[in-house]
Amino acid sequence: MGYTNSSLTEYVKLSPNHSGQRVRAIDRITPHCVVGQCTAEGLGDWFAKTSTQASSNYGIDRDGRVGLYVEEKNRSWCTSSNANDQRAVTIECASDTSEPYWMNEKVYAKLIELCTDICRRNGKKKLLWFADKNKSLNYTPKSDEMLLTVHRWFANKSCPGNWLYARLGDLASKVTAKLGGENDGTTEPVQKKYYRVRKTWADAASQLGAYTVLENAKQMVDKNPGYTVFDWNGKQVYPEVAEGAANGMMNADCPFMVKVSVPDLNIRKGAGTDTVKTGKYTGVGCFTIMEVREGKGSNAGWGKLKSGAGWIALDFCQRV
Ligand SMILES: [Zn+2]
Repeated sequence: MGYTNSSLTEYVKLSPNHSGQRVRAIDRITPHCVVGQCTAEGLGDWFAKTSTQASSNYGIDRDGRVGLYVEEKNRSWCTSSNANDQRAVTIECASDTSEPYWMNEKVYAKLIELCTDICRRNGKKKLLWFADKNKSLNYTPKSDEMLLTVHRWFANKSCPGNWLYARLGDLASKVTAKLGGENDGTTEPVQKKYYRVRKTWADAASQLGAYTVLENAKQMVDKNPGYTVFDWNGKQVYPEVAEGAANGMMNADCPFMVKVSVPDLNIRKGAGTDTVKTGKYTGVGCFTIMEVREGKGSNAGWGKLKSGAGWIALDFCQRV
């Protein structure tokens, strides 16, 4: 099976410190404590030095941002164990510098999200935590199982710290619940994915049918003007709406004014969360957008500020 990387990644700085492609398929996740409330960039700089002789696949920084340092396909140098890291995705999490190596809630919330994403992309439906070294290291996960392991089992250190260690059961059950797999012996029903033909998503009574095949739903709409195909999340999929078209924030609409209602909307140097932040925020107010481009992290696209300060995510803007 092909390896992929997480789309939750907001910062990439690939480290030279790894062993090349892993020789075991991924069936473990090993979360670590960084021992410092680091930024994704700071951790990337540290792993970029060959003298560091260490790396991790991912890092979660103090703001909950995910950094990618060693691609998932490669074996990182993280857990003091070749046997573990050949099969584990390793994640360094921003923490305090001493026991219990406390982590803030943004870090923990992102760890749940990242573990869920890693499991999902690698075909796993359950994340397991045994809290027992021998049991864990002797356990062969089933094809849909991912196992949590910890650094302290392989080296004389506290990592991931007592704070996170005490929460690994919670982490495993939350991730498993999100994956919709079995947990505590109960099976959650698998959500059926239907394309529904309705006048509006809210008007369930107008539904003409529910289809597993999108083409069939589209044909129904073609025969019934005024109807729309919605996916299982209620998102309009046919007739297609260009993102931004509905709110008048297309490139063709430029220049236009938008209202920003949050005080801390980042201004970036380019159109996407994969470009650097300028370190400045828009603040609450109205701004003129001169150009719209597609980019990572904003479905409605990115808008170039007239001031020349940079680009902002139009997902957080309202057209005025
Ligand atoms: Zn560690």
